[in-house]
Amino acid sequence: MAKTAYNPFETAQKQFDRAADMLELDQATRDLLRNPIREFHFSIPIRMDDGQMKVFRGFRVQHNDARGPAKGGLRFHPQETIDTVRALSMWMTWKTAVADIPLGGGKGGVICDPHNLSHTEQERLCRGWVRQVYKNIGPTVDIPAPDVMTSPQHMLWMLDEYETLRGEKLPGFITGKPVGMGGSLGRKEATGYGVIITVREALKELNINPSDTIASVQGFGNVSQFAIELYEQIGGKVICVSSWDQEDQTSYSFRKKEGVDLEELRSVANPFGGIDKQKAQELGYEVLPGEAWLEQEVDILIPAALENQITGSNAEKMNKRVKIIAEGANGPTTPDADNVIIERDIFIIPDFLANAGGVTCSYFEQVQSNMNYFWERDDVLGRLDVKMTAAFIAVSDFSRSNKLNMRDAAYVISVNRVAQACKDRGWV
Ligand code: GLU
Repeated sequence: MAKTAYNPFETAQKQFDRAADMLELDQATRDLLRNPIREFHFSIPIRMDDGQMKVFRGFRVQHNDARGPAKGGLRFHPQETIDTVRALSMWMTWKTAVADIPLGGGKGGVICDPHNLSHTEQERLCRGWVRQVYKNIGPTVDIPAPDVMTSPQHMLWMLDEYETLRGEKLPGFITGKPVGMGGSLGRKEATGYGVIITVREALKELNINPSDTIASVQGFGNVSQFAIELYEQIGGKVICVSSWDQEDQTSYSFRKKEGVDLEELRSVANPFGGIDKQKAQELGYEVLPGEAWLEQEVDILIPAALENQITGSNAEKMNKRVKIIAEGANGPTTPDADNVIIERDIFIIPDFLANAGGVTCSYFEQVQSNMNYFWERDDVLGRLDVKMTAAFIAVSDFSRSNKLNMRDAAYVISVNRVAQACKDRGWV
């Protein structure tokens, strides 16, 4: 998961330019959508447990809110940059548009490594982040959610700070809250399950039975774990999973040819999804280099970690058997790797379609919070399936009828929806 020289914002802008060309957008619309509408950069001073003050850098970027309030997660990562947050905010705009929910796109981040922060330091950081930006976000303005290394507990601390500052209960301010504290049933599973709903639909199109397939997954965080869970339920077998090793500051892949056991791996992973290699080895897993997940002889690859993971230099290492790549992470594939994928005719389910289940369920959570009402789990997951399936079919129909690959088709649909909303509002 090492960071490379790729700048995700340049990737996001390149992808947008391509869609803008296909749609023949006018200059004003391009200027508006190529960059975020608003950005907030701030310092967050925190008193550490040892009494010393430490200043963290935080961001919130609102890329576009023409279709509804900005929406998107908040990441804690030591290598966070404003350009990563900008890219992710733009991808959120396309994600809410492709899922066709009445929201825009935003993203936030703090440069920090939560592995090295105590529980109380993390709480102060969450509250500090809200204090710096609360006037510019809110249930009808911009709604944060969890993302890389942030959890339901972080969301609850943020909600508590926000409600304290505003002097009223506003549970729709944030999503991904703990169940019982305004969170929605099904939210924790939603992103991973959504990825597999799109895989299921892709397999249907390719006329392949899920139980005849095997997969390899990058990452073992929330998205990966629930993707593995649903993929196994529909009959698939995962043989390799990679994860970040905090101690060695590198990643490893864990392979079991007869199929990994999700519960077993969960029992030897930390809360951030880091798998203990010693314990995994004792459970019979082969411990391989970090990139080995990509080289496995499988039908389906699911990158579910960070951006810039399948690149021009490693894409050639993908096994010839690979038929589908389902992007659970945001921006895992660089444009030069995309060329290899297109040449090999691999069916790509692009990130902002494949992982739209999280924000779709966040939307359901927001609706429940705003109504002060609570839906059953089956109700939430049933609605999620309907939304994800409809989004997948819209993109795949468009890709077939316009002879576009799935990424281009998804881009054209969502950029067009957002551009139209901007036009209708009189912004361009
Ligand atoms: N962080 C997730 C994403 O990248 C979910 C965002 C949300 O629920 O608002 O899609």
